[in-house]
Amino acid sequence: MTTAVSSLPLATIDLPDFNQLGVDELKQNVHSALQQAQQQIEQFPEQLHDAQQALELIFELDHVENQLQQRWGVLSHLNAVKNSAEIRQVYQDILPVLSDYYTQLGQHKGLYQAYQMVQASPAFTGLNPAQQAAINLAIRDFKLTGVALEGEAKARYGKISARLSELSSTFSNHVLDATQAWSMPLDDAQLQGLPESSIGLLKQLAEQHKQTGALATLDFPAYLAIMTYADDRNLRETFYRAYVTRASELGDPQFDNSELMQEILQLRQEMAELLGFKDYAEYSLASKMAPSVDEVKQFLLDLADKARVPAQKELAQLQQEASAHGIEQVAPWDTAYLAEKIKLREYKLSQEELKPYFPAPVVISGLFKIVERLYGIQIEEKQAPIWNSNVHYYEVSEYGEVIAGFYFDLFARSGKRGGAWMSGFRSRMKIRNAIQLPIAFMVGNFTPPVGNRPALLTHDELVTLFHEFGHGMHHLLTEADVIHVAGTHGVAWDAVELPSQFMEFWTWDEEALSLISRHFEREETLPSELLNALLAARYFQTGLQTLRQVEFALFDLNIHSTVPAPDTLQIQQILNEVRQQVAILPTVAYNRFQHSFSHIFAGGYAAGYYSYKWAEVLASDAFDRFEQEGLFNAETGKAFRDAVLAVGGSVDALTAFKNFRGREPQLDALLRHNGWSNGPDGSPASDSVSTAG
Ligand SMILES: [Zn+2]
Repeated sequence: MTTAVSSLPLATIDLPDFNQLGVDELKQNVHSALQQAQQQIEQFPEQLHDAQQALELIFELDHVENQLQQRWGVLSHLNAVKNSAEIRQVYQDILPVLSDYYTQLGQHKGLYQAYQMVQASPAFTGLNPAQQAAINLAIRDFKLTGVALEGEAKARYGKISARLSELSSTFSNHVLDATQAWSMPLDDAQLQGLPESSIGLLKQLAEQHKQTGALATLDFPAYLAIMTYADDRNLRETFYRAYVTRASELGDPQFDNSELMQEILQLRQEMAELLGFKDYAEYSLASKMAPSVDEVKQFLLDLADKARVPAQKELAQLQQEASAHGIEQVAPWDTAYLAEKIKLREYKLSQEELKPYFPAPVVISGLFKIVERLYGIQIEEKQAPIWNSNVHYYEVSEYGEVIAGFYFDLFARSGKRGGAWMSGFRSRMKIRNAIQLPIAFMVGNFTPPVGNRPALLTHDELVTLFHEFGHGMHHLLTEADVIHVAGTHGVAWDAVELPSQFMEFWTWDEEALSLISRHFEREETLPSELLNALLAARYFQTGLQTLRQVEFALFDLNIHSTVPAPDTLQIQQILNEVRQQVAILPTVAYNRFQHSFSHIFAGGYAAGYYSYKWAEVLASDAFDRFEQEGLFNAETGKAFRDAVLAVGGSVDALTAFKNFRGREPQLDALLRHNGWSNGPDGSPASDSVSTAG
């Protein structure tokens, strides 16, 4: 089923003027949108005449929501990529007001009845699929935001929500501050082993911090350079320790997240109970594709079983390499270093030799060519106001008409939160006489350009870029024209990583690689020895990586399904138990990974980190059809676009998948894409993944 394409004209895009927007104005903009929204729900009539009136009121509220989302979207975006004490304060001040508003909205009985009235009326069948889905999802969500609560319970829910949004924000600030507060100047001896490009980066960082020589920070590109290349084992441990104790009781006490984690888990548990759930994990799963917490845990454990034998071989290989370097026992600060040595020897694969073939501008234009061929669109850079000189703005068009726009903000810098993400700041939506076009921010923390060379990307960075761009395509190519189901909105969270992980596969294809690689100084695509080395190393350590992801996912589920909610010590205990159950790599007692696990404490992945693995099954299986029909097969591309990308949340995730594949998802492709085609024990792998009905 495809969403009905509206015949309304497409609106022209007007963009925020990032050059001019001051913090005061940002604040004012959000406040006035909030005020308008508040007014709207306060004036909501007690009695409705009919479904038509209900529909019109819902439509009005969607407009208010549209405005609020965009204004808040700009503020929270700048808070994430151009953080300052000033904007942080404004952001933190608005959070409780915003939370109050959404609590009121989610518990508004009159509005809830309006939705029910529409759903029960004959007019419902006349609505398009996006409108119908938005109404069905809204009715589900009213229950999840406590519309049935009364009196004290209702008030308590509101307090919990507001406090949780504040805690998440503080958690995230602590991680950013702890990351930025630590740096270390390095002398020549300590730079031993680092390639010239990494040394260039560290010298540039020293300059930016008004120091001489080389300076390493905990920004990911710098941290990774030390962990991968520094011959000085003690130095690697120093950095490892600084990194894994960020925002914990072992780091600077002012950034310690210990108590926050405890309070977050307690409040989530209390909220889940208020709403009639056994625990927060059960509450989280109520709006997801996966049928139950137990089934997800089983899915993860089965995956760990599949990964264990390959992982053990990988660990043995690491241990062997360690001995060759005079290291008796592999420690966590050795793994990246040793892995690089193995890749160099076993596969003749050197990231340093590879990087000059992946200058960011070439990669980006190749990426665009790939999606242009797949989806029949065109992408072009356009002038627009930006918030940093490294930001670029692009527009997507089809049949000569602009259909979407997006920003790239790809490089690490101070004042920017770590990681990579896509945020859909403006959604496709039917506004009065036209279609509002979707706009996205795509953000990364890649190695910045050093000196006057273009930024040279590692293959890992390439994979991340493609991943975020997959999310971007989901947001931008939507044809659903109701804000609540456009793009990633309304998509079950554990299916959201389908379009993103799907896109990663093109970074492993020879033809795609020829489009995204060209030496930054010579007009030369990737030489065949390097290409072969890269492809040969594709499955390198997939066993260990899988075990690590399963460890994070199980830890997340377990802390959210332990009742009463665990305190800081118990959180550590649960993590230790999970490690005992699935991990095979050594760890150290001072590792406080959980204190900077922003995905689950400050992002949308609480009791949902498993989504990556869950959706990887879907992504792998979807890509399998492209492998059969051709990676650049425009018909298959169109089928994927229509069945998955275009529908957004207007079709449930499993149905959308089945519409594309013509059957239930299967696990085989994922195993094959991890290099375990026949299962690690030699038996054919043909399990079917159980999915929600
Ligand atoms: Zn993602």
